[in-house]
Amino acid sequence: MSFTFAPNPRYRLYTTPHTYYSLLSDIVRGRFEAGDEVALVETELRNRFGVRHALCVPQNRVGVFLTIRCLIEEGRAAGRDEVVLSPYTIADIINMVICAGGKPVFADVDRETCNIRADEVARTIGPKTAAVLVTHLHGLAAPIEEIQHLCKPHGISVIEDAAQAFGTRLNNEQIGTLGRAGVFSFGMFKNINSWFGGAVVTNDDALAERLASELARYEFQSASFVLKKLKKGMFTDVATHPLLFKLLTFWVFRYGFLNDIEAINKRVRTELDVSPKESIPDEYLRRYTPAQARLLLPQFPHIDEHSAVRIRNAKIYHSALEHVTELVIPPLREDFSHIYTYFPIQYRERTELIKYLMRHGRDLAAQHYKNCADLPGFRAFYRDCPNARKVAEELIFLPTYPRYGHDETKRTADVLQSFFAARRTEATPTKRYANSSGM
Ligand SMILES: *Cc1c(COP(=O)(O)O)cnc(C)c1O
Repeated sequence: MSFTFAPNPRYRLYTTPHTYYSLLSDIVRGRFEAGDEVALVETELRNRFGVRHALCVPQNRVGVFLTIRCLIEEGRAAGRDEVVLSPYTIADIINMVICAGGKPVFADVDRETCNIRADEVARTIGPKTAAVLVTHLHGLAAPIEEIQHLCKPHGISVIEDAAQAFGTRLNNEQIGTLGRAGVFSFGMFKNINSWFGGAVVTNDDALAERLASELARYEFQSASFVLKKLKKGMFTDVATHPLLFKLLTFWVFRYGFLNDIEAINKRVRTELDVSPKESIPDEYLRRYTPAQARLLLPQFPHIDEHSAVRIRNAKIYHSALEHVTELVIPPLREDFSHIYTYFPIQYRERTELIKYLMRHGRDLAAQHYKNCADLPGFRAFYRDCPNARKVAEELIFLPTYPRYGHDETKRTADVLQSFFAARRTEATPTKRYANSSGM
């Protein structure tokens, strides 16, 4: 086996020394809740998205909860309490629908984009539908215009979960502004990061007013809550620092993955908690803090430049893999309608492929989102979603983050190609014959 170089990590956080310094010094100086930066962020969002209202929330999921709760209340008199959504998302989003008094109705996804399909929405909406929640996963725009077109005649509200799509736009319109409301995330793993946080944007005055009056009743998110996340982030930042990663972290995770050592593997798995919730946890009902808003402000100017790098990396993967028939890959779009916060690929023998990549010095991982339609906790809402089931079994995400680098992207694409080339050689009888006779 040829010597393998250690790679850059599968992901890195959007953090800088400022992310730590600013927050810690605010806490030390007792300025965590002081300042008008939340209003500045909301103004920035209103301008950026050309909307009438932007409201910061403590987490994206809380924004989803509050918005859906308003829509369920609206629909109550008409007996509308169903919320159509993709089952391929974080389980807590399903929980938020339930906690808001809604009944989740799962609509299956498209294999290539992993996003909800418009024809599935058409099949699942009806007189009881209060809202359709459209998630733009991996920064890939879902068919929001078709879905709007389907919903409008029936007075059904469309809500966008744009947690992974800050900066995505479709026909020059910003994702998040195409439905009645859009919800963003500023969580630790997102392309704009203040440890926790999010925002709801909308042009609906009445909805904005109800959200604002609800949020005004909450206390600020506590510093200790945010600090816990910062500590986790610090471990991640140290472990994924290129030097330490190449010398140590990669080899530990590689060893764990190649030898099926659960104690190591579970450390990099997300979505471990998929337990159902029936009421909103009290610690969710908090206000976004000025200290966190101060972390966001310097990040806004860089979003588009980062998206452009992600699209360039996606192009490398796409051209390397578009003829590999064994893989399902997303389409290539360079107009910012797909910003590829990851480049998701699907392969039937996912574990085998990841092991091959790791053996060849690449750090890649499976996506661990579940098909929520199959989770025992949501059995009451079961619907057969074969595409979402496949996606959940087969998805591997390829890194696109700006600091990953052009050469690393190339190398990952090359190793992927070599995996499938090697299989093809093995599978061709004449080749095998030629090899053995030539030895
Ligand atoms: C991260 C994420 C969320 C949740 O965001 P929080 O800010 O952590 O609540 C919701 N939906 C999707 C698709 C996400 O990726």
